[in-house]
Amino acid sequence: MRCDQNHAWWRYHPADSELAGIDLICPVDGTEAVTAGKLALADRVVLKLIPVAWDREGTIGFDDEHFIEISRRDGARSLRSARVFSFDEACRRLSWFKGLTWADAERRWERTGMRTPDALKMDSSAHEGG
Ligand SMILES: [Zn+2]
Repeated sequence: MRCDQNHAWWRYHPADSELAGIDLICPVDGTEAVTAGKLALADRVVLKLIPVAWDREGTIGFDDEHFIEISRRDGARSLRSARVFSFDEACRRLSWFKGLTWADAERRWERTGMRTPDALKMDSSAHEGG
């Protein structure tokens, strides 16, 4: 969107929804947009870090354990790690998928063996930190 003072701003909207009134208001000066354009979203994998922390009567466990999950933008397909990782390690592993299309991310996921529980791995050389 762009106002008549030439400020430009962007909003994310799912393909099938209309822009709401507030989205059309310039965040700089509060005037209404005079032009609005639409850009198709590129095919990029969505990256999620899912906390595993549990709470038993105030006692918190697994506070630094996380699953990682990748999904297609429309949510129709997703993959979640069999293992849990520390926050830093989970972020590091998620970065392997940054900017990939869903198809490329799915292939890379398979190559990393992320979905295979360690107990099932035949390769005894597998170790932390990959
Ligand atoms: Zn403006």
